[in-house]
Amino acid sequence: MERARPMPSRRRLLKGAALAAVPYALLPDPPAGAETHAVDHATAEWQPATSANYTTADVLTPRPVDLVIIHVTQTSYRKTLGVFRSPAKKVSAHYVVRSRDGNIAQCVREADIAWHAGNWEYNTRSIGIEHEGWVDQPAYFTGALYQQSAALTADICVRHGIPVDRAHIIGHHEVPGTDHTDPGPHWDWGHYLRSVEQAAR
Ligand SMILES: [Zn+2]
Repeated sequence: MERARPMPSRRRLLKGAALAAVPYALLPDPPAGAETHAVDHATAEWQPATSANYTTADVLTPRPVDLVIIHVTQTSYRKTLGVFRSPAKKVSAHYVVRSRDGNIAQCVREADIAWHAGNWEYNTRSIGIEHEGWVDQPAYFTGALYQQSAALTADICVRHGIPVDRAHIIGHHEVPGTDHTDPGPHWDWGHYLRSVEQAAR
């Protein structure tokens, strides 16, 4: 039993200082799936695509990014993450936003080139965001999905110096040469752009 002390002992202070100096490598590994350090957007969870589905950028020559490309998955959030983990699929996006709560998965680092636009030049200069849903089912475009996606796009625009306008935040259907129609006629561009502007302030 210890007597009450008015001040922490010198020994205890030294022990605290020693613990603070322990290198990270000596600390136990974080549990699997807790690799939150890898994300570029603070609230995203790291759900990596297989490296067979994107191009790793040269770390010494960062790529300039001047476009955000908006997609709709045409399948579920869970299946989209599965597709990105499957080497045979040859497809990926940087982010996937879940319909019901706006949860964001980051699958490819922003520095790397995801394969989402179907156009190599557009892939090299863009960040791709997938949204869970179907182009003909507007109920999937929830308030939470718009809000979280807008905060993500605002964060990307601020960090990369991308203007917040329709020339730089585009739909997949606007990529030259694509036959894709997403995000489709039900995507509310007016509401989305206003939300991005608000979040970017
Ligand atoms: Zn698309």
